[in-house]
Amino acid sequence: MNRISSYHRPATLDEAIVLLARTDVTTTVLAGGTAVNTTDLPANTEVVDLQAAVAAGISRDGDRVGFGAMTRLQDLIDHDDTPPLLTALAKREGPNTLRNVSTVGGTVAEGDPESELLAGLLVHEALVTVADSSGSRDLALEDLLADFSVLDRAVVTTVTVAIGGATAAERTGRTPADTSIVAAAGRIVATGLRIALTGVAATPVLVSVDSVSSLDPPADFRGTSEYRRQLAEVLVRRVADQLGGSA
Ligand SMILES: Cc1cc2nc3c(=O)[nH]c(=O)nc-3n(C[C@H](O)[C@H](O)[C@H](O)COP(=O)(O)OP(=O)(O)OC[C@H]3O[C@@H](n4cnc5c(N)ncnc54)[C@H](O)[C@@H]3O)c2cc1C
Repeated sequence: MNRISSYHRPATLDEAIVLLARTDVTTTVLAGGTAVNTTDLPANTEVVDLQAAVAAGISRDGDRVGFGAMTRLQDLIDHDDTPPLLTALAKREGPNTLRNVSTVGGTVAEGDPESELLAGLLVHEALVTVADSSGSRDLALEDLLADFSVLDRAVVTTVTVAIGGATAAERTGRTPADTSIVAAAGRIVATGLRIALTGVAATPVLVSVDSVSSLDPPADFRGTSEYRRQLAEVLVRRVADQLGGSA
């Protein structure tokens, strides 16, 4: 049972940042709420709802596409400028009831290790704009996933991705509709092949063909560490074969 002491709906990003910057209260950002509403929050948490403060929307700028952090996953799927790999992988993020609520910013901030959309964002060279009381800065998604402390008292405002480049994805799950045990996404970029995996670490991660055999995936009831590592090797090889290169 969540014990929320206050609910704030700031009208601007600046107001949201002021609310989050307070050190005498515990706050949490609320976007779509699909994770927040199912998490046990600390007692007396104050919720800062971003729906009026942070933009939704998708826009193309040259060779990149930007997603406002409050863009719902179903809107990402439905938009013509969304790269096809991201459209396909966003459909894996739960049923459409959840996708109509979940946001791009919430997906990034949650860092779910099984998120195939995050793997897709990694191979599309995602940059995450983070704003806090010291200003706004762009971070590579892989850096944010490696250190979530940058989101302490901060707000994700935008996620931009590079477009173009052939892509491929492979996955293994217990059934076709189930969350994948391990999934791989790949994309051809100027320097070669960019590949990301889910289900092998605390968050989705970028890998190379050579580094996969040294992964140490966490085990659970769906697969031991060894099984997951073997799946990773097979799926990365399949993606690399489809794209005709080595990661
Ligand atoms: C039944 C169920 C199934 C799920 N399946 C999946 C799945 O398959 N794949 C998957 O990846 N996730 C899954 N999730 C987790 C969650 O739904 C997703 O990560 C979702 O995309 C989160 O988006 P949201 O907008 O609802 O975030 P919220 O629940 O509002 O927030 C999630 C976290 O991100 C923070 N946050 C949100 N927006 C921002 C922002 N703009 N800036 C800074 N911090 C922010 C919040 O404070 C919170 O810590 C599932 C959850 C449920 C309940």
